[in-house]
Amino acid sequence: MRKIPGAWRRTASGAGLLDAQGTVAPTIFAEMSALAAATGAINLGQGFPDEDGPTDVLDAARAAISAGVNQYPPGLGMPVLRNAIAAHQQRFYGLPVDPEREVLVTAGATEALAATILALVEGPEDEIVVFEPYYDAYAALVALAGARLVPVALPWPHFQPDLEALARAITDRTRLILINDPHNPTGAVFSAEVRTEIVRLAERHDAIIVTDDVYEHLVFEERHVPIATLPGAAERTVSISSAGKTFSTTGWKIGWITAPADLVTAIVAVKQFLTYVNGAPFQPAIAVGLALPDAFFTGTAETLRRKSELLGAGLHAAGFAVSRPAGSYFTVADAAAFLGPDEDAADFCRALPARVGVVAIPLTAFVGAERSASYRTLVRFAACKKPSVIAEASERLAALRR
Ligand SMILES: *Cc1c(COP(=O)(O)O)cnc(C)c1O
Repeated sequence: MRKIPGAWRRTASGAGLLDAQGTVAPTIFAEMSALAAATGAINLGQGFPDEDGPTDVLDAARAAISAGVNQYPPGLGMPVLRNAIAAHQQRFYGLPVDPEREVLVTAGATEALAATILALVEGPEDEIVVFEPYYDAYAALVALAGARLVPVALPWPHFQPDLEALARAITDRTRLILINDPHNPTGAVFSAEVRTEIVRLAERHDAIIVTDDVYEHLVFEERHVPIATLPGAAERTVSISSAGKTFSTTGWKIGWITAPADLVTAIVAVKQFLTYVNGAPFQPAIAVGLALPDAFFTGTAETLRRKSELLGAGLHAAGFAVSRPAGSYFTVADAAAFLGPDEDAADFCRALPARVGVVAIPLTAFVGAERSASYRTLVRFAACKKPSVIAEASERLAALRR
């Protein structure tokens, strides 16, 4: 075999793009989805909804294609969508955003994260603080950017970081503090105390805060509090979101950034050479979505809250210890009661489709190899499925008790 050089070979503190053998291992998501397909198991592994989003949004995309909105949109995104994003930030959070200079439309939140990290990291001395477990793309992107990943643990069962550990992790070497609130994979929402401390430390060490807010409309009890609304935060925060989770359009890949104009300019410099632009007919459709009445947004959060409760009750009845999520698609459960002496949650998840016909993801898929021990018995289940599907999955999981 030819040796192919390049950034794809990088690993960032054990959580890079390659496995220990130096090959691209199939991700646990691909492995579990293949298992689901092969066994006919219910897939509570991957986080995508099994129902369509609002009809108005879907119709608007069809209409845009018919009307000929099929060529390259402007580099920053179509004005109709940039205006809708700015109006959304004002309407929900009271954040004034200039749609001409402070908004950038991206190919999903993933490209927004990639462009932001690549644009704002200078070299191998730069550190990026993340909260662990983390969305798998974070470690890969930090590795591609050639920076250093500095994880701060979110301990079971409440998944709030220890404030002293946070203060130790954030130093003058910290370039970015990457937060995801509500949080995938744990379903946690940061406490007000944690948010305040993040902003205080960012100011003290002159770090930029990057927030992944893709679950902003899927908070169960309170309303989402973007970190950019805290005093002093907006000027150093890049806020990233996406239409995928809010409108059940994960395949459309329409995301966006709102940030101070100088940061947007730096990020555009990179983004223009990644995708340049994307999703012309979907952009006006998401503008329609962002302008939907409040009832749509509160309704989506309420529907998912009920699904999460159903899933939590099913897991509890099956004998799992369950962490109660405050938002997002996900619920974490402890499978310790079902594990043999040498087994971990990854073994459990590999066996689960054949054993009871359900697919889930071990939390170690979101954790660096060095620190996987504290998460070894934990499993992530997705609640973004029809209630009938969750009820059937719960019934199947109940067989674990027998
Ligand atoms: C789904 C998800 C993304 C990816 O969003 P896209 O818009 O599909 O790129 C990013 N971050 C988190 C935490 C997610 O769960």
